[in-house]
Amino acid sequence: MIQIGWHRFGKNVDEFEKELASYVNIDCAAALSAGTAAIHMAFKALDVKQGDIVFCSSLTFSATANPIIYQNATPVFIDSEKETWNMDPLSLEKAFEKYPNPKAVILVHLYGVPAKIEEIREICKKHNTPLVEDAAESLGATVNNKQTGTFGEFGVFSFNGNKIITTSGGGMLVSNNKEKIAKVRFWATQSREKAKHYEHKEIGYNYRMSNICAGIGRGQLKVLNERIAKKRAIYEKYKEAFEDNSYITMNPYLENSEPNYWLSVIQIDEKSGVNPLDILEALENENIESRPVWKPMHKQPVFEKYDFIKIQEKAISEELFERGLCLPSDTKMTEEEQERVISIIKKCFE
Ligand SMILES: *Cc1c(COP(=O)(O)O)cnc(C)c1O
Repeated sequence: MIQIGWHRFGKNVDEFEKELASYVNIDCAAALSAGTAAIHMAFKALDVKQGDIVFCSSLTFSATANPIIYQNATPVFIDSEKETWNMDPLSLEKAFEKYPNPKAVILVHLYGVPAKIEEIREICKKHNTPLVEDAAESLGATVNNKQTGTFGEFGVFSFNGNKIITTSGGGMLVSNNKEKIAKVRFWATQSREKAKHYEHKEIGYNYRMSNICAGIGRGQLKVLNERIAKKRAIYEKYKEAFEDNSYITMNPYLENSEPNYWLSVIQIDEKSGVNPLDILEALENENIESRPVWKPMHKQPVFEKYDFIKIQEKAISEELFERGLCLPSDTKMTEEEQERVISIIKKCFE
């Protein structure tokens, strides 16, 4: 075919959608320019708009919450529980008592650890509220052998540079609702109507993944299982190394779930007298990068005017932020490098 110009769509986009959908075992997927775009499109497909309330995990990256504002809706942030660090089902129930008719719930599977998704799905069903899973960090993680991102009405994945697999930048929206996914593809390509000329009846977005990125994604999907195995080995090595230090706990997960171990994170008991920032600095002095745990959304200047629901006197999400540290978890890290990280951390407790 001789075309008027270079065409950004092609076979890779369709194939990447099919392959990703097949990997997580869901009917449909739309490849988009970012995970954030996928969250935005999920809310649009659920008709989230001005005056609507959306319940949202507080302990997450801001990209989970920003699209609520893009749709002019109002977030209500929900605290974490201690067993997975994700949305607390009891706090969620409490939120439904205060706000009986939210438009949607969005939860995150933080650092690749699945949330108490089955419990939360039941609560959402009981209240007839659609659930969106921000699985940007948890591709490949499962609960009772079912993939995160496939429990709710919509699931979101990210292929940003820091994620377990990457297309340099990109995202995917998945669902078993074929019509809604088709509609998202339409909005994401500037809402161009089927006509010879350019015809628009709705506002559109330039949110589609490019064919080049999708090509990279197809290659990356082939190494996903390998990456998870490597990430798991890194997690296990840290876990073993800190086993005899009662002040350190690794980011926990439930027995019925299998994380993708995207990031190894530790929580440090206050009684140790060691602050996570002391460790961050000790590592930094050796040119090793570590990061604080996400600062909860309800503590962020841009979101602090919104309501926050918790059941504990001291919010779990705040405690995790204050006491947590994300450790080097790159799959390219060698065993020797990880041993160095471990010995620097151990020294902080001497
Ligand atoms: C990375 C990330 C996103 C956003 O994905 P992008 O592809 O960077 O837009 C959303 N939520 C969480 C929890 C993330 O970690």
